[in-house]
Amino acid sequence: MSGTHEMIMVGVSDSGTEEWLCPRCGRRTLLRRGPDHEKVVLDVGDALAVHFGGRERIRTGVAEIVPDVRECDVEWLRGLGIDWHGQKR
Ligand SMILES: [Zn+2]
Repeated sequence: MSGTHEMIMVGVSDSGTEEWLCPRCGRRTLLRRGPDHEKVVLDVGDALAVHFGGRERIRTGVAEIVPDVRECDVEWLRGLGIDWHGQKR
C-alpha cells in the first residue's frame, strides 16, 4: 500500500496542537504550529506513502469532529507537555 494519501485534521488542542489522521492507512501526527514548530508521529501508518493535508482542503464540519483520544494517549501527550483537555480547565 503506497501512493499519495490526503490527511485530515481531526482535532486541535487548546494550545494549538493539531492532530492529523490519514483515513487510508491510519497515520496519525501531531503538528504544533508557530515559532516552536514541532511534528510528532503517533502512528507511522504507510511509511512509503506521500502524505499531504491542508487546512484549506477541509470541508466545513469535518474539522469540528472531536477525536476519541484514549486516556493512555492523553497521559502520553501530557508527558510531551501537551494538555489535551486544556479547554476543560
Ligand atoms: Zn496514509
